[in-house]
Formats: sequence, C-alpha cells, structure tokens
Amino acid sequence: MKRVVNFSFIIALTVVAAILTAATGFTEVETEPIDQLRMNAKELVLQQAGMGWKTWVLGEPSNQAALYGKYPKLFTAESIRVAQKAVKAETDPEQKKALSFFESYLESEYLYKQTAILWDIYNDLEAELKVLVDGKLVPYRDLEKFLSNADSPERRAELATEEYRIYRLLNSVVLKRELEQSHRLAKELGYKDYLDLAVKARNFDLESLLALCEEFLDATEERYLALFDEVSPVPRDKFRRSDILYLLGAKNWDEYFPKDRLVPIAQKSMSALGFDPNKQKNLLMHTEALPKKNPRAVCFPIRVPADVRLSIKPRGGKDDFSSLFHELGHAEHFASAQTPIWEFQQLGSNAVTEGYAYLFEGLVENPDWLSVHTTMKGEEKRKYLRHAAFSNLYMMRRYMSKLIYEVKLHRQEADPQRLYQTLMSRGYGFALNEDESLRYLSDVDALLYSADYVQAFFLQAMLEKKLQDQFGKQWWKSKKAGGFLKSLFAEGNSLSGRELSEKLGYKAVSGEALEEKINSISAN
Ligand SMILES: [Zn+2]
Repeated sequence: MKRVVNFSFIIALTVVAAILTAATGFTEVETEPIDQLRMNAKELVLQQAGMGWKTWVLGEPSNQAALYGKYPKLFTAESIRVAQKAVKAETDPEQKKALSFFESYLESEYLYKQTAILWDIYNDLEAELKVLVDGKLVPYRDLEKFLSNADSPERRAELATEEYRIYRLLNSVVLKRELEQSHRLAKELGYKDYLDLAVKARNFDLESLLALCEEFLDATEERYLALFDEVSPVPRDKFRRSDILYLLGAKNWDEYFPKDRLVPIAQKSMSALGFDPNKQKNLLMHTEALPKKNPRAVCFPIRVPADVRLSIKPRGGKDDFSSLFHELGHAEHFASAQTPIWEFQQLGSNAVTEGYAYLFEGLVENPDWLSVHTTMKGEEKRKYLRHAAFSNLYMMRRYMSKLIYEVKLHRQEADPQRLYQTLMSRGYGFALNEDESLRYLSDVDALLYSADYVQAFFLQAMLEKKLQDQFGKQWWKSKKAGGFLKSLFAEGNSLSGRELSEKLGYKAVSGEALEEKINSISAN
C-alpha cells in the first residue's frame, strides 16, 4: 500500500520506506521495559523531525535510516507485546489511552519495517522503468511532466496508457505481495485481521463512518454531477482520469492571490482570531526563499508545544494560499497544545488535526473573507466559488469511495479491481475504464489513512457550523471564536473524531453539517 506522501507534518509517516538497513526485529530476544521504549521513541521522533526540517528547508541530505538504526529494539514483535501488556495492566484511563496510542505507533512502524524491502523494490523499479513518448524512450518518472503539459484530452489519454502498463507490472511484482504480507503481519500481532488493527490505530467507528459515506454519496450525487457539467470543458461521457488534474487546477484565479500578499494576508487573518504567528515565541514561520528549500508549505511540530515550525517558499496563486492556511491550522493546533503527555503531543490519528487544517484552508474559499482580503468580485467570484465547490466535492466523494473500497479490499471480497472500478466511477461521476481501474492496488493508503481525511471533512463542517452559530457568520473576525478554538487545541492530538464531536454538541461524527454546507453552496 502506498505510503502517504502528500502529508508531511508527521515525519514518522513519510520517511519509513527507507528503513531497510535497520536491524529486523525477529532476532531480538531481550526486551526493553515500557518506559525505556517510550523514551527511545520520543528521542527518535524528535531527531526525525529535526532532520526532516533541515532537509525540507535547507536541502540537507536525509538519512532517516541511520536514525532508525540507532533504535533496533523499538519496532519489534517483542516491544509490541510489552506495549500490549502495559495497556492491559494500566488502570488510569488517561494513561491507558496514551499507552494505546503508543502501541499503535509501534505496530504501524513495525508493519512498514517488515515490508520495507518491497518498497525498495518498488522505488528501484519506478526509477529504472522507461515508457514510450512520441516514439522515444523516456524515464517513467518524467511521464507526469508530459501529462501536465498536455493540453488536449486525447493527448493526455494517450500518455496515460503508458502509465497503465507500469501499474500492471507494479501490481504483480510488488503491490499484491505487500498487501498479503501486511494482512499476515496483522494476524501475527494478535489482531483478527488488518482492518481490526487499522481501526484500532485510528480510533474510530468503522460501520458508522461507512454509513455516513454512503449517505453522503447518495445525497450529493445530483448536485455534484450538475456542478461537474457546469465546470468541465470535457463532457462527462468522454471524461478520462487523465483529465482530472487539469480540471481541478485553479490557475484562472491566481492573479487574485499575489505572492507578496500571501504572508501579510495570512498574518492578518490569524491575528483577527487572536493568533499571532509573528509574535508567538513557540511558533516559527520560515518564509525566506532559500535556494534549496522545498516550496510546499509544511508544518513540523518538533517539540509540542514549545517548538512548532512552519515552512513556506511563497510562489503566490490559489493553491499556495490554500496550503499555507491549511498548515497554519496544524501549526496553531500544535502550538496551543497544553497536554503534558507526549503521546497526545506527537501520536494519535490525524482526523482531528486535519479537521482544524481544513477549517483554516476553507477561509480562502469563504465569500466574505474574499471580499475583505482580495479584489475578486462579481461573475469572476461566482465562478471561482463554483469551481471550489466542485473541487471540494470531488475530493470528498473520492475519499469516501476510496474508504468504502479499501474496506472491501481488506475484507478480501472477490474481484477487487472490478470493485474499485464500480465504486470509484460512482464517486467520480465518470466511468473509469478497465485500464484506469488498474490503480486498485496503488491507490490504497496504509492503515486506512483515508478514514482520517473522511472524518476531517465532516468535522470541519461541524466545527464551522458551531463557530457560526456561536460567533456569527463572520466568526473568523472574532477573537472569542479564536479563544474557543484555542480551548479545543489545548487537548493536543488526544481527541478522537467522536470526542471532538461531543465537544461540539453531537453524539458522534455527523454528516448533517456537511450536507447543509454543500446544499447552501450549490444553491448559489
Ligand atoms: Zn494536513
């Protein structure tokens, strides 16, 4: 299953593919006591974050494998048994929860470590493979460049057929084996199956979330298809997967989001809520355009809450604004944490912090906010908002369909490729063909990561509704609203989606607020 690569604020999730050189756990006999394991993990995560920051901002070489190599006893079947025993023996509910976060952390790292060799094969293959473009052999990894420069749908479809040849190969050589191995490892760790392990790690109610997804997909279908037909220059019956990136791009509106206004607007917006990234001593906003810096916005919670860092190399444009606001959501969340428990500072699922990040990202698509901070107006603004509504619905429907599919895949239902084709076609609103559905093994995230995103979509809408009800439609101008957010952020990453929902006045994660929001947007 593909590691989540577009999500870099939790370092542990993004770099483990390279840990092959670390010693394997099966030969370890001696075990460390639980406190020693926790201390080692804390040290490792701190060093990983420090190295990740230097690599991202300064372009220094990364050697995460060497860091893992320092702790050969950490991610082993024995250490997991120690953690499992400690969870069972603990009677204090708070400590029990922290230990359970720790156990899940060990288990997910262990799974990656045991399958690292397959990921190395995957990366080597990807690096070596060649494809045919205009009669010439070019590296497979350059194909994306050709795809993003192709203006006609026919040209994109032709290039994509090369991509699907590669999927066929990677599926049979690596991905099927990786899936089988992960399923086997989960059982070896004492779980009923892989799903059981994943659901425990993400701490959510699987059946209720699946039901919410089904309901959302049904309820939004008509509106989504109408929006699709409105914004897409390619008719839906001719639409191919290779057209999607082209359609989602918001380049037409980039002039309203100039590079030199990015940081000042972000700072102004945050200070209206009573956050002040400029003055917060524990929050570093690194905006300098260093030559080797990775331009994408990212948040590194190095030490929570004492040392939280955000990096961006401003380029301007809508996507740059969206991603800075998104990362500011993460940064303010971690910088406001007050919990002394390390597991609640650094571990746990990402559903809640993603919900906070989407809340801030949503400002860039808020009509009133746009009137205050940009010059966009009239028909131009209306079109922008329709396009944003389409893009959001597309992402939501994609992730919900993906979650439903991944659950069926892990339950080993028959013919997963056909299931992927049927379920994703419904989500996307255009029919995936046989070739396109070859992504049924590569379009799978480790340990049901999609469940975190799906919960975050619902939580963001629930949170926004609560803020509007309590502080008015323009809650984002209110320091009291900021104070309310700070009171939630104080819990660090300890809350599950359900626990945040309870704080917002719901019994559990609910689809009502999101459906209401979609209806009000598409009625405009
Ligand atoms: Zn995020």
